[in-house]
Amino acid sequence: MESPATTLGRLGERALIARLRPSLPSRPDLLLGAGDDCALAAPPAPGEDLVLKSDPVREGHHFLPGTDPLRVGRKALGRVLSDFAAMGAEPRWALVDLVAPASIPVADVERLYEGLAGRAREFGVALAGGDTSRGDALELHIFCAGAVPRGEAMLRSAARPGDGLWVTGSLGRSFESGRHLDFVPRLREGAWLRARGRRACIDISDGLASELRHLARESAVRLSVDPAAVPLSPVCEAAPDPVAHAFGDGEDFELLFTVPPADADFADDFRRAFPATRCTRIGTVGEPLPGGLVLLGEGPDARELPEGGFDHFAPSAPASERDAPA
Ligand SMILES: [Mg+2]
Repeated sequence: MESPATTLGRLGERALIARLRPSLPSRPDLLLGAGDDCALAAPPAPGEDLVLKSDPVREGHHFLPGTDPLRVGRKALGRVLSDFAAMGAEPRWALVDLVAPASIPVADVERLYEGLAGRAREFGVALAGGDTSRGDALELHIFCAGAVPRGEAMLRSAARPGDGLWVTGSLGRSFESGRHLDFVPRLREGAWLRARGRRACIDISDGLASELRHLARESAVRLSVDPAAVPLSPVCEAAPDPVAHAFGDGEDFELLFTVPPADADFADDFRRAFPATRCTRIGTVGEPLPGGLVLLGEGPDARELPEGGFDHFAPSAPASERDAPA
């Protein structure tokens, strides 16, 4: 009889995989799942681009020791799915590399996979395999592949003068509220936006300020943002200097995107399609400008979004959260 405290080191990798395999979500185009040297999947259909993304989640950097493993698993897959959402792409198959100390209870690993599998099922993603390795601290490395109609992925470079600048949800203090673990990736919203025609999009993982700069630089345009229009999360609203947190904190996993002026019914249509998802206009795309620029406010009072050392941009997440590429 196995004690509830059985560790991964005691159980062994082979037995762990045998135990996890039956509960891994699959899908018809996954031809061969976990258990052989590689997984096999049907190639994307003609007229589709293959979409690839990987992302690590590390104890002490992306979550604190002692965090419920279910939420860690949810976050690990959610981060990758949020990037798919930003491209308007459909995630299909995910591989999970687990690095863990031998002393981790098997029950914790099972809970981790429960979190991964839950998010995967919710969005029709198969957990196609991966690998495990011994390490000093818990790490999950997720690789996901999927598809998007050819040439239709929403790129950071697609913002054009005259477009509106919008965000989903509300921003700030994601660490304090626990949202960084439990967020639902905006895949449905992303696919809907993409199907509506040309627009730029990026997910807010490193903080609104940072994503605005990416968008301005990649599209080579000036962006004008109204700080007072930025939607604040309830926990953020209660904090001192909430607007600074909304700009500077990371891990919101909302979408920042543009809306062409010709898309006049956008706000009404979005509200009808996603009555539970807040969607707010926060600014406008200005004239072309090599290198890009982000301005706060408009007219003579406009000032440049401060680079880095904006002293009241007090970050609440560990520094490692913001130093990695999106
Ligand atoms: Mg991203």
